[in-house]
Amino acid sequence: MTDDLSHDRVDDLVCSARGCRRDATWGLLWNNPRLHSPERRKVWLACPDHREQLEQFLGVRGFHRSTIPVGELDAPSGR
Ligand SMILES: [Zn+2]
Repeated sequence: MTDDLSHDRVDDLVCSARGCRRDATWGLLWNNPRLHSPERRKVWLACPDHREQLEQFLGVRGFHRSTIPVGELDAPSGR
């Protein structure tokens, strides 16, 4: 299973915000150029309430690449 140009896998579709356990509806794709190769995408998940907050967190650091609906993430099960 090669995954080199794709984003990291996500298991539970739960919001990544601290203390939040809501179902995520958005996948935030990001990359830290100092740690990751340019084509690598890390994934944060966000519920509607936290999407903006997490995007801003990544955005001010220059890490944010794109945001996509969780349905477009490659979930390990169910296609
Ligand atoms: Zn949340």
